[in-house]
Amino acid sequence: MSYMSYMSYMSYMGENLARHAQGNWWSKQLQKRLALMLAVLVVACGGGLCAAAADTAAPAAEKARVLLVTGADYPGHLWRQTAPVLAEVLRKDPRLEVVTVEDPAFLDSPAINKYDLIILHFQNWQQPGPGEHARENLRQFVEGGKGVALVHFACGAWFGEWPEFSKIAGRAWAGPGPGVRQHDPFASFRVEIARPDDPIVRGMTDFDTPDELYTCLVGDHPIEVLAQAKSKVDGKYYPMAFVSHYGKGRTFHCPLGHDVKALSVPGVQELYRRGCAWAAGLTPIAAQSTQPAAK
Ligand SMILES: [Zn+2]
Repeated sequence: MSYMSYMSYMSYMGENLARHAQGNWWSKQLQKRLALMLAVLVVACGGGLCAAAADTAAPAAEKARVLLVTGADYPGHLWRQTAPVLAEVLRKDPRLEVVTVEDPAFLDSPAINKYDLIILHFQNWQQPGPGEHARENLRQFVEGGKGVALVHFACGAWFGEWPEFSKIAGRAWAGPGPGVRQHDPFASFRVEIARPDDPIVRGMTDFDTPDELYTCLVGDHPIEVLAQAKSKVDGKYYPMAFVSHYGKGRTFHCPLGHDVKALSVPGVQELYRRGCAWAAGLTPIAAQSTQPAAK
């Protein structure tokens, strides 16, 4: 029922009740009460408090400002292709206002504090990562209660430069070395939902995706694994999406997304959209296509 039809209905009910009660003392009391009720409703609705009376009873539109930081990566990672795809995936949640900056050095700026979530989609492969001031800027941003999300090889950002990064990221790249395996060969594998009650993955089902199954994440910071995959090489399970906390902040970390093909899988997109909404401080919302049937 729309606001106008609701008000017409209330008016009709008022007239009807008053007509039936006409002639006795109660009618005057009733008319007074109805007039008062209508006045209260008009004032309340004028102030935007009558959401419950309307069909469009959606919660107040929350927004989150999201900064997607990219612009440098391992040559096999085509960030100029993947970053725009990721931004579009996130914009399907209209609450997420995504701005892309193609220079990781932007993390040095106090302007990062205008945002609710910073997405790290870079890896400083051939040059040092953003310097000490930028690192501390990001650390304080997360510790103070904002969100950070990591995409694929961002687990390797600041490799060898910043030990604290492992706690902010939840897990970080183990790095190269003898006997260290980075990932299964690029191929399709099954991503399994590990915590079906978590709002980020609630209602999602296991899905297949063509990607690199990362086996190279290390660390002992407490994390909650939301999705995982079993390696065809060693038969072990590895985290494919997980969340953690650093100070008051929220971290969403997803090693999926090697290329545009991998980021085009609906399940991967759903993980990123919902995980980033959560990290930005919003309630994750399921896309129509993956919404579970009503129970
Ligand atoms: Zn990759």
